[in-house]
Amino acid sequence: KLDVRVSIRSNDEIGTLAKAINDLAMETNRYRSNRREFFANISHELRTPISYLQGYAKVLKQGLYQSEKEKNLYLEIIDQESDRLVHLINDLFDLAKMEEGKIDLSLSFIDIGGILESAIVKLKVETVKKGIELEVISNNVLPRIKGDPIRMEQIFTNLLSNAVRYTEQGKITARAFLNKQHVHVHIEDTGMGIPEEEIPYIFERFHRVEKSRSRQLGGTGLGLAIVKNLVELHNGTIAVESRVGQGTTFLLSFPVERGAE
Ligand code: ADP
Repeated sequence: KLDVRVSIRSNDEIGTLAKAINDLAMETNRYRSNRREFFANISHELRTPISYLQGYAKVLKQGLYQSEKEKNLYLEIIDQESDRLVHLINDLFDLAKMEEGKIDLSLSFIDIGGILESAIVKLKVETVKKGIELEVISNNVLPRIKGDPIRMEQIFTNLLSNAVRYTEQGKITARAFLNKQHVHVHIEDTGMGIPEEEIPYIFERFHRVEKSRSRQLGGTGLGLAIVKNLVELHNGTIAVESRVGQGTTFLLSFPVERGAE
């Protein structure tokens, strides 16, 4: 901890300088404790799947199961937990690149409606399995916007898979429309919602409304942090409206560049 406190409280230049030093010290401390927390989170997130892998591999190696069915269950867990590890490592790597500004977007003029459709197709199996309806309402005269098609699809896939993950029944609706030289995308679900006091934090790395529930449902806790970074790299904005027990809507907007139509 940086224990610099300059206790000069005058309104002259020295006073201003003292305040600047104190602010800087406070910011450095905040940065250090964030960093510490971040690494503690990473090691926890990595350790959990690894301990499953070790545990179940040992059980299988020693033949400590009663039936073929039980054995297959353990193999399934090993499979899921290794997927989770790969997912987590990819997400961490992506986020690190974004935060250092080292991510290269492959920019072209892209069709948001089409990208939304292809993100949705990939989630069909999951929604059918859960009995959730999934609908896209897209205006087919949307102008193209400048963006990276793969990253844009990643934005939609992350938000839609959250919608599926946190919705038990009902419907997910993705809307794309043009308003005031911006292409807007609203992703709405009828799921469990997010408590109001949690909303300011959900875009932070590893922040989860309910830690264990979210882990059980397969999240890494990095999805929304990645989404926010990617939206901002596209000069876009993201906001959220939510009601506990009723549902959540993520509202995105991207500027249409002149000449893009
Ligand atoms: P996770 O991998 O845990 O889903 P995210 O960064 O994608 O991490 O989301 C952060 C947290 O925000 C989630 O753990 C969940 O509590 C909450 N959340 C995100 N999307 C939704 C949604 N559509 N409905 C309800 N809660 C959500």
